[in-house]
Amino acid sequence: MRLKREEMVKFIKNNPYGDPINNNLILEAMKKIPRHLFIPNNQRHLAYYNGPVPIGEEQTISQPFIVAYMTELLLLEKDNKVLEIGTGSGYQTAVLSEIAKKIYTIERIPALAKSAKSIFDNLEYNNIITRVGDGSIGWSEMAPFDRIIITAAAPEIPKIILEQLSDNGIFVAPIGTKDRQFLIQIKRKGDKFIKKTFCECKFVPLKGAKGWK
Ligand code: SAH
Repeated sequence: MRLKREEMVKFIKNNPYGDPINNNLILEAMKKIPRHLFIPNNQRHLAYYNGPVPIGEEQTISQPFIVAYMTELLLLEKDNKVLEIGTGSGYQTAVLSEIAKKIYTIERIPALAKSAKSIFDNLEYNNIITRVGDGSIGWSEMAPFDRIIITAAAPEIPKIILEQLSDNGIFVAPIGTKDRQFLIQIKRKGDKFIKKTFCECKFVPLKGAKGWK
C-alpha cells in the first residue's frame, strides 16, 4: 500500500489542472494517510487510483488530486482553525488535520459522519470535531474560521458562510451547476472578498437550506 500511495503522490504533484502542487506538507500528509481505510472494503482496490470512488449513500470520495489541489488553494497555516462542509469519507478531513490545528467538519448523512468519526478515532486524529447537520449554512456557533472548504457543489457562493470567515481568511469551494463547477478561492480582507477562479471540476451536490433542494 505504501508504494501505491507514493505513486499516487508522484502523480498528483504534477497537477494537470494547473500549477504543480508545491506544498510539501500536503504531499507528506497524503503519503502518510492510509487512504484505503476511508473506502468501503469492496472498493479498496481503487484507493490509490486518481478518480472518485463510491462510498455509499450515493456519495463519493473525491479524487486524490482534487483533494490536494483544494488543500493547496486553502494556503493552510499550522495554527489555522478550519471548517469543512461535507465530511463524506473523511479523507479530506484527515489531510486538513495533518496540517492545521483544529478541524470542524459537518456531514448531513448520519451514516457517513459516523463512519468517518470511527476512522478518525482509530487513527487517533484528536483535532477533528465532527457534527451531523446542514453545513450549507456553515457552523455559526463555532465561527470565525481561518479557512473554510466546501467539498460538495454549491449553486452559488454562500454569503452566510463567507460571514463566518475571519479577517484574512480563505474560502475554497466548487461553485456552479449540478453538472459542472469551477473551484473558487476567496480571500477576505476586512469587508472585501477577493475572488479567483481555478479549474473545472465535478462534485456531488451540496444539499440543504443554501444548497440544492
Ligand atoms: N471530502 C469528501 C467529499 C465527499 S462528497 C471526501 O473526499 O470523501 C460530499 C459530501 O458532502 C457528501 O458526503 C454529502 O453527503 C455531503 N453534503 C452534501 N450537502 C451537505 C450539507 N448541506 N451539509 C453537510 N454535508 C453535505
